[in-house]
Amino acid sequence: MIIHDFVYEPPSARVIFAPRSRGRVPEEVSRLSAERVLMIATRAMKPHADVLVQWLGSTVSARIDGVTQHVPAEKAREAALIATDADVDLVMCLGGGSAIGLAKAVAKDTGQPILAIPTTYAGSEMTPIWGVTEGGRKSTGREPRVLPRVVVYDPELTVSLPASTSAASGMNALAHCVEGLFAADAPPITGPIAQEGIRALSTSLPLVIEHPDDLYARSAALYGAWLAGWTLGTVRMGVHHTICHVLGGTFGLSHAGTHSVVLPHVTAYNATVAREPMAALARSLSTADPAGALWDLAHSTGAPTALADLGFHRQDVETAAEMVVEARASDPHPITKEEVYLLLLAAHDGARPT
Ligand code: NAD
Repeated sequence: MIIHDFVYEPPSARVIFAPRSRGRVPEEVSRLSAERVLMIATRAMKPHADVLVQWLGSTVSARIDGVTQHVPAEKAREAALIATDADVDLVMCLGGGSAIGLAKAVAKDTGQPILAIPTTYAGSEMTPIWGVTEGGRKSTGREPRVLPRVVVYDPELTVSLPASTSAASGMNALAHCVEGLFAADAPPITGPIAQEGIRALSTSLPLVIEHPDDLYARSAALYGAWLAGWTLGTVRMGVHHTICHVLGGTFGLSHAGTHSVVLPHVTAYNATVAREPMAALARSLSTADPAGALWDLAHSTGAPTALADLGFHRQDVETAAEMVVEARASDPHPITKEEVYLLLLAAHDGARPT
């Protein structure tokens, strides 16, 4: 075994994982000694947010119901203003990556801690990565203070997630794990955790689609999402995430769906440049053809497989390729424009990678 040099800064979130763990939120708020909470909730979770607000009583000083994907800078500024005006000392978020993303934007500006209750498999709650979109460009960065202080995983809250969102969001989580395997700066612990995440997600997602109410399948998928977010938090984001951020931030494509489409094609590209992680990925997926297996998983669970279906136009492939190459210019062996162009063309058409 060869251990490469590494830097490891452990993520410090307190994680509570159990069906009905949302009932423990008031206790966690007290544990943080919070007295003025900003509650941010995605629209679909409003009924659950209402219940939490009832439990927390006067501790809730402000609410934001409804969030926008990719965190538009304007919405981030508005939310930070609401937090400042209400003098909040805790930002709570209930929802997927968009609600958590808005909470992170507030935490970045105000320095207040986050208590996150994730309801999709996006994994953002376990990373110190923020993302904000302005002027058609998505910027991301890392700051320890945007990493939630407490994460409450309640698999019951994911039962209402529609099949299409479950599948696409699960593919988003898989992408974090796969990228963790290929990252040159990954500390040695990342690989085994990423592989466990891949196993949990790839085996549970078909069950989640077949039996959406199956709490065991939902728990396994959420467990995979936790490991996926953890994995992404330990590495520098690679070409896969850069491509997805360009497609989401500039071309307005759905975040999770884009990950689902792009992942098999980036994996096919990675197969040509990194053999060892590809072997680990093959083992985790129990296949000799990881790129094909990821495409099959997306296809069989109803997750998107073609960028054309997400509204991406063939004539935009060249511009997107240029933006990706520009964003990856500092890589030791940057991907070429032609490579990204071919990858995006294949992803646009959606054929199974060979
Ligand atoms: P999302 O948060 O936009 O949610 C998708 C849809 O599902 C929304 O309409 C939402 O209301 C609904 N929804 C959420 N939970 C539900 C539930 N349990 N039942 C029914 N409906 C539900 O989508 P997402 O894929 O979770 O997040 C995407 C965003 O997260 C992107 O902006 C992306 O950049 C960000 N993200 C950030 C990181 C990070 O580390 N910073 C990681 C992953 C994703």
